[in-house]
Amino acid sequence: MTTAILSALPEEQSSLVQHLSHPQRLMHAGRAFWRGELQGRPVVLALSGIGKVAAATTATALVERFGVARMVFTGVAGGVGEGVQVGDVVVASEYLQHDMDASPLFPRWEVPGYARSRFACDAALSALLSGAARAYLASAEGQLGLNSMGGQVPATSAAPRVHEGLVASGDRFVCAASEALHLRGTLQAAGHDVLAVEMEGAAVAQVCQDYGRPFAAVRTISDRADDTAHVDFPAFVRTVATRYAEHILLGFMQKL
Ligand code: SAH
Repeated sequence: MTTAILSALPEEQSSLVQHLSHPQRLMHAGRAFWRGELQGRPVVLALSGIGKVAAATTATALVERFGVARMVFTGVAGGVGEGVQVGDVVVASEYLQHDMDASPLFPRWEVPGYARSRFACDAALSALLSGAARAYLASAEGQLGLNSMGGQVPATSAAPRVHEGLVASGDRFVCAASEALHLRGTLQAAGHDVLAVEMEGAAVAQVCQDYGRPFAAVRTISDRADDTAHVDFPAFVRTVATRYAEHILLGFMQKL
């Protein structure tokens, strides 16, 4: 049973590629895929690219061309939920597309043809990801990861935390405090309590639903989706998020 590990950006994937045994690079649909083994188990590492369409293409290729049995997404996201801070980790329990709106034909955020706005992640895979994330953050190495930002992470008294809940995807890099507040507020008023925003997960969740493949996702919070989101972002991905992805996914693969 092959496990696919998707990331949006090459930086998010780079540390995992270095751990692959018997690595084999294949091009398909204009994308590079890495086949190999992690912790002795068969995997395909794939880049989704940025945004929902690119992610859906990669996820479809992973099923049709590589025959993967399950998919796990690892990447970064903007924290919008209360207390979801830079350096925290969010494990998605469900996904929603915040830019889906076919109203008044369908209720806002409902995906036409699916009679739902939320797509659930696989509970067992998500529990393994949460366990691996908690173990990493509690370790000395996990503390080091955040400190290596050299002051770029706002000094919060709280240690990094793992959150589990709803994550929203859309084809927008949310980088204004007013927009993040509005997005969270309108969703919350409709009963959708969103923890984080990113640009790919909901698309992969929908493809996995179509093909009956279990899906789970872990996102390191790189920014607060506010006016400084673009400033924090590149350095954070390079220095912290790659390390989180490496340790959390290796821990996950060991328990799988
Ligand atoms: N700097 C990158 C672009 C990154 S786009 C480049 O030049 O290639 C942002 C990526 O991080 C997306 O893959 C998205 O899933 C995630 N992300 C992180 N913070 C986000 C935010 N505030 N809003 C939306 N997506 C965010």
